Amino acid sequence: MASFRRKLRRARNHLALRAVPGIAVAMPASLTPAMFLDRDGTLMEEADYCSDPAKVRLIPGVIEALGALKKAGFRLVIITNQSGIGRGYYSVADYEAVQRRLLELLGEGLIDATYFCPEAPEAKSPRRKPSPAMVCEAARDLGLDLARSWFIGDKAIDVQCGHAAGTRAILVLTGHGHAEDAGRAEFVAKDFASATAFILRPADASP
Ligand SMILES: [Mg+2]
Repeated sequence: MASFRRKLRRARNHLALRAVPGIAVAMPASLTPAMFLDRDGTLMEEADYCSDPAKVRLIPGVIEALGALKKAGFRLVIITNQSGIGRGYYSVADYEAVQRRLLELLGEGLIDATYFCPEAPEAKSPRRKPSPAMVCEAARDLGLDLARSWFIGDKAIDVQCGHAAGTRAILVLTGHGHAEDAGRAEFVAKDFASATAFILRPADASP
């Protein structure tokens, strides 16, 4: 027994020596699961390159569903391609006005963070969905556990983005969802509220 304790102490010391001061060491126990959310066609009605805050309409049930996910312990992170900026249809300021209106309608403090990619597909941005880059940025910034997280969106690229990042994924049939290939999505849901009900179903209630 004494020898076992000695070995344990030596192992602990070894680990302590490997923790270099000033360098962040990943602490898996502190990572939290997240819900990565596409914006247009998933949380708000698809409005074809929406650049007008007056056109922001929430999809019914979204506020209650987001509240339930937050209460269950998920961080809520919007991941959105905004190629309308790169295509010259609207400016970053227009995008920000629409985003502000969305957050205002959802209510203070519900969404934890938003990441957007302004570039057009031709620009071949390394961040644009289906690339997992924005999800990885969020995971690094917020300390997120991707294996316990989900991506919900209305396009195949949302499902692909989630899977590429190591999350599970749900395709919703709002927005462009009806015309999209669900691919290997874990679930296809009528809308965001149904996707949330699936994630929080009693058999799998904890994230
Ligand atoms: Mg969408």
